[in-house]
Amino acid sequence: MSVANSWEDNVRKIVPYTPGEQPKEKNVIKLNTNENPYPPSPRVKAVTEGFDCGKMRLYPDPDSTPLVSAIAGRYNLKPSQVFVGVGSDDVLSIAFLTFFNSEKPVLFPDITYSFYDVWADVYRIPYIQKPLTEDFRINPDDYKTENGGIIIPNPNAPTGCQESLEMIEDMVKSNPNSVVIIDEAYIDFGAESALRLTEKYENLLIVQTFSKSRSLAGMRIGYAMGNEKLIKYMNDVKFSINSYTMTPITQLCGAEAVRDEEYFQSTVKKIVDTREYSKTKLKELGFTFTDSKSNFIFARHKTKPASEIFSALKERKIFVRYWNKPRISNYLRITVGTPEEMDALFAALEEILK
Ligand code: PMP
Repeated sequence: MSVANSWEDNVRKIVPYTPGEQPKEKNVIKLNTNENPYPPSPRVKAVTEGFDCGKMRLYPDPDSTPLVSAIAGRYNLKPSQVFVGVGSDDVLSIAFLTFFNSEKPVLFPDITYSFYDVWADVYRIPYIQKPLTEDFRINPDDYKTENGGIIIPNPNAPTGCQESLEMIEDMVKSNPNSVVIIDEAYIDFGAESALRLTEKYENLLIVQTFSKSRSLAGMRIGYAMGNEKLIKYMNDVKFSINSYTMTPITQLCGAEAVRDEEYFQSTVKKIVDTREYSKTKLKELGFTFTDSKSNFIFARHKTKPASEIFSALKERKIFVRYWNKPRISNYLRITVGTPEEMDALFAALEEILK
């Protein structure tokens, strides 16, 4: 038996995910973490104002019934086909733990949501990152090898590129022995959801969030939808870690946000309109970018390095996201804000690029 030299030898060591900066200072323009620039539905406010604090004495409903029922109703599913968690980060983390349980590697793109490799590392899941093409697209043939599971975001982050439903269906069909997770965090801003394919393929899991299109990043609500068996397996893992993940107020606010379809549609439309307007302005300023179907634009300038623009914007209290990583170190990811915020960004860019 080997003798440990220190308690630290037995620590689960991990390089954590770095979330986008949440600046403490006031009066900043925050276009760095893909939050929604508009407040949540007024029906959410009504819930918080009418909430009986006395209820906090009790543990919450472990099945999050109000929230699960509202989501199931919105997407025409049975409640047993919906799993909810503390943001889609929690849902994805539980999905990794539940479904990626093989010696074979899990597959995902090289340029993608930078939490995937962290979950794989923390859970000791082997993985291979498949390079996107030059124009940041997925090569479907890369996903036709032996694997222990697949995860791709659609649209992808931080590129904003959408892949076709045909490609996704082909991927799911070619991998009947793996669970394929489609992370649809940004789906509501113009891409096509693969949800209906879950009727045909029991190995397909769709994950979405209230953080972007429903303006509730601070409330932490994410959900997975799919075959009842998949959801049952996820719940078994969740109930083996923490039964009470969703607070009573979260469950009620989430349910009201889902029910306010009209507000949801109008907010999403405003963001999509501002995104398209912003593309025109960025083009005039000398930027090129992917055809984003999300609430952000992944752009690079024809002459000025992204790192310099990032710092110059920060000096002017405008926050965008920048990664000093291979292949994307000359890109900025700019969240779509209100038209006023975007105009302030364009004015600043004009000055910086002069
Ligand atoms: N997936 C992708 C692709 C994301 O960009 C994000 C946001 N950082 C998430 C999932 C997680 O979002 P949340 O936990 O707020 O639902």
